[in-house]
Amino acid sequence: MGQVEEVRIAKRTGFCYGVREAIDKAKEASAAGKSTHTLGQVVHNEGVVRDLQDLGIETVESLDDVDHGAAVVIRAHGVRPDVMQRAEERGLEVIDGTCTWVIQEQRELVRLVEDGYTIVLLGTPKHPEVVGLLGFAPDAIVVDEEEEWEAAIPRRKRMALISQSTQPPWKFEQLAAFMVSRAHELKIVNTVCPVTIRRQQDTLDAAGEVDLMVVVGGRSSANTKELTRLCEIAGTAAVQIESVHDLTDPSAFANARVVGVTGGTSTPIEDLRDVAERIYSLGGTPDEQARASELARTALDAAATPAGRTTSLPGLKVSAGAA
Ligand code: SF4
Repeated sequence: MGQVEEVRIAKRTGFCYGVREAIDKAKEASAAGKSTHTLGQVVHNEGVVRDLQDLGIETVESLDDVDHGAAVVIRAHGVRPDVMQRAEERGLEVIDGTCTWVIQEQRELVRLVEDGYTIVLLGTPKHPEVVGLLGFAPDAIVVDEEEEWEAAIPRRKRMALISQSTQPPWKFEQLAAFMVSRAHELKIVNTVCPVTIRRQQDTLDAAGEVDLMVVVGGRSSANTKELTRLCEIAGTAAVQIESVHDLTDPSAFANARVVGVTGGTSTPIEDLRDVAERIYSLGGTPDEQARASELARTALDAAATPAGRTTSLPGLKVSAGAA
């Protein structure tokens, strides 16, 4: 018999504001009857992409797949400036969903280039945000894991350090400390996103109060992996899953009385509710199993804050003229 007594959803989960805004912009364009596309998946979450498809919003990998005059939404990660320019040249209606925080990073990079700094960018190479940022500072040196730093980072008179938004703050601080001895003048521009910092803090707080954490997010999502790592650092066992469908084994909850649930910045809060419901169904007492849906809603209500809203336009339907 299951013994899970309670499932707690960490505070301030759900989409970050950048992702939410980009999704809302796509929905608004579609609702206004525009043929709407997103350049790349607006968020790496199958359920969300399917919902958008149901509204007539298509994901395209290239601007060449968008017809003249149609709308193309730039996702929160942003793009290189030449992509923006090409979209306009092709006569597309560009709807810029670049997160305001990422726009700030891009502006900072432009300033650092103008001021002649040798720039080190802490980030995951090939991540769309990093690819976009490099369009503003093509010579920036991208570094990720600590083992690379010694070989990749030169010694220069004037150096600057900046970060991809979702990098762990501790890594940024370590790299800053490392770079002190590499430059005569070191300019540090801390662009780790506050949402990332809060998410990690709330996950750590939740992990400290439960027997097991379930972390929900894309397998390749760096910010999700970091949440799992933090739970383990807090001494709490953690299971990382991509969606509720990955939770099938009741034995995972055999030794857990209280289970915490958290998610990455691209994971809708509704997914966390579904996971909470599944945990009650798999690991709860017979009474909890019967009331799993109601209990999961209660867990969600206890966690939801304005910062955890999924989208400000939840009820938008495709208008008559939409594709
Ligand atoms: S993590 Fe922060 S910077 Fe990145 S899209 Fe979300 S809010 Fe914007």
